[in-house]
Amino acid sequence: MHIKTIFREVEDLLEQASVPSPRRTAVWILCDIIECSPTHLISREGDQLEQNQIIRIREAAQRCSAQEPVQYVLGYTEFWGLRLRISPAVLIPRPETEQMIEVALESIEPGGASRVLDIGTGSGCIALSVKHALPTAQVTACDVSAPALQIARENAQKNGLDIRFIIADILSGDFLDKVGTGYDLVIANPPYVPDSERSQLPPMVRDYEPGIALFCGEDPLAYYRAIADKLGSGLLREGGMLVLETHVDYAASVSMLLQKEKDVSQIQIKSDLAGLSRFVLASYSEENHSVSGRT
Ligand code: GLN
Repeated sequence: MHIKTIFREVEDLLEQASVPSPRRTAVWILCDIIECSPTHLISREGDQLEQNQIIRIREAAQRCSAQEPVQYVLGYTEFWGLRLRISPAVLIPRPETEQMIEVALESIEPGGASRVLDIGTGSGCIALSVKHALPTAQVTACDVSAPALQIARENAQKNGLDIRFIIADILSGDFLDKVGTGYDLVIANPPYVPDSERSQLPPMVRDYEPGIALFCGEDPLAYYRAIADKLGSGLLREGGMLVLETHVDYAASVSMLLQKEKDVSQIQIKSDLAGLSRFVLASYSEENHSVSGRT
């Protein structure tokens, strides 16, 4: 069978199953299994496939047609130019999160982030990208999930990035004992989908991605409250930056939550590429506090 024929078969199957971006998913499956780049696929469309390649392509296409995300089927994704191993133990990194890295890097002074903490690292996508962009920074990544940390560690190793990994729960009282204090930059994409929105999620997300990374229970601000709580205990150093990804409906509430914290200033909400309020930034400064005269 020729590449062109199986490509059509896979694309048709995915289209009939209403998989989003059927053509792109078909290209991804074929390129992975026949080991070629998307730009070379057309020039190879007349090539004959081996029987075992046909079997693997059809298996992958079947799994995708049942709404399993192609990143889990093939076991990897690309993020910030890095190749990351992905398993159902971790969330599939989203383009918005890639944008958060840009927002975070823009928010710091050159050389101003020598100690960085990524809370709830999952696949390690944020920590790895920051380390890649700021090679001299000391980057710490934590997560409550041991299987997620294992994937993140593997991704750091494969990409040659030196990151400190710690198992820690932001909702637990011993969080700061485990991860330490005085960070220049704290960045997080915590679980922010309220349980009540579970049924509205696409099956691809709801049925395959880890609930522990997505859902925040009934309180949409639960994880943000836990992070804000640690600011008064030294999570950030004087002048340090906090950069958070949020649910589009709750960016303003997260900003209000931070406004109530002592010594937090320069709170900003930034939009994602779709124009939706998605990121909240803030800086921590005890000096602001004394200047403004608040007690
Ligand atoms: N942005 C993810 C989604 O669309 C959720 C990520 C999160 O909960 N932090 O489902």
